[in-house]
Amino acid sequence: MPRETRESAALFERARAVTPGGVNSPVRAFNAVGGTPRFIASARGAWLTDVDGHEYVDLICSWGPMLLGHAHPEVEAAVREAIARGTSYGTPTRPEVELAEEIVARTPVERVRFVSSGTEATMSAIRLARGFTGRDLVVKFAGCYHGHVDALLASAGSGLATFAVPGTPGVPASSTELTLVLPYNDRAAVEKVFAEHGDRIACLVTEASPGNMGVVPPEPGFNRFLAETCRQHGALFVSDEVMTGFRVSREGQWGLDGKTEGWRPDLVTFGKVMGGGFPAAAFGGRADVMHQLAPEGPVYQAGTLSGNPIATTAGLTTLRLATDAVYAHLHHVADTIKAATSEALGAAGVPHVVQATGTMFSVFFTDAGPDGAVRDFDDAQRTDSAAYAAFFHAMLEAGVHLPPSAYEAWFVSAAHDDRAVQTVLDALPAAARAAA
Ligand code: PLP
Repeated sequence: MPRETRESAALFERARAVTPGGVNSPVRAFNAVGGTPRFIASARGAWLTDVDGHEYVDLICSWGPMLLGHAHPEVEAAVREAIARGTSYGTPTRPEVELAEEIVARTPVERVRFVSSGTEATMSAIRLARGFTGRDLVVKFAGCYHGHVDALLASAGSGLATFAVPGTPGVPASSTELTLVLPYNDRAAVEKVFAEHGDRIACLVTEASPGNMGVVPPEPGFNRFLAETCRQHGALFVSDEVMTGFRVSREGQWGLDGKTEGWRPDLVTFGKVMGGGFPAAAFGGRADVMHQLAPEGPVYQAGTLSGNPIATTAGLTTLRLATDAVYAHLHHVADTIKAATSEALGAAGVPHVVQATGTMFSVFFTDAGPDGAVRDFDDAQRTDSAAYAAFFHAMLEAGVHLPPSAYEAWFVSAAHDDRAVQTVLDALPAAARAAA
């Protein structure tokens, strides 16, 4: 007997009557996998409970933020105390200073400014890069998502053209005509675009390790190559760590490559984990660049709820609790689930590849590519999303909530204990057969 979804279905129907698609962010609607999205009533640790009373091991973790798991007692206590002191003042506060200090201590940024979403962070970083360099062009990679910023909701133009076309109705061509879109992991394309337009490029923005076309890590040395190419041409290197920041390692993706290879991005964007489940994000970077921001410099940027005391308290408490032991645990859980997924799919004869960066990973159903690796957006789009949908639903029935799209990262938390992991492992063999 499939799980009863009466309450979720009823809420979904009501939601669709008042909200486009019934959801407030498209991927939540299950359009990519079909079926009724589960409306979640509560969450604790590694588990979600839906409005029909079913429990699921959560491998979405709010699309990344819940590094410590849901309703972590210390985060909850800190937030309760903060709320009792009022929720927003529109004046400077202590937690935002302490969170900024924590971010500066962990990452390559020298100065940081808070905003409320990753979208705002990348939007502001690009404005700052343009203001600092006095140039207009922005380079991005196909398949990298940086939020719903007009200039970055851009698709590669047809043929060999790299100038972008709008990726959605509503974005005017004038908003994307200064954006160049390149295939990820393609050094030759980067060299060509900088050779042709280098003196007009304000910045290159990239996901530090892409997770929005599924996890497609940079090939060894690729981020360093990007940083060096930008420097040679006087452009800024903007590393989007909204997803990877404080997630793939203590120091984000930079801790996995930049720190060891000896380079620094000029600007970095953060979000997700640093808000501890609240709307907080940030951009930061070189002091000389950041000091161009108002009120010190001429580049305008602002926000009513930026650095909100509740959100910064949740983020600060989360980061303080995100110790090396937490990252070691995340690695252990991620490695266990990755290995078991691969084993189950192999046993069922399902062609696949598991790709990871740090503790963030995803599973592609594919037999494409000479070595099976998915290295750019074209590769990702050739993977078998129908097989993923079958796999997804079998896992859901067995009490494991994966992301409802083949092109997303799977996230684990410090609260994924043996019981949660065992639930995932027990679900895998039948789900793998369903995908065969
Ligand atoms: N950058 C990256 C790498 C992201 O993954 C996301 C969101 O998923 C964003 C930016 C946008 O963040 P937000 O959804 O908070 O606007």
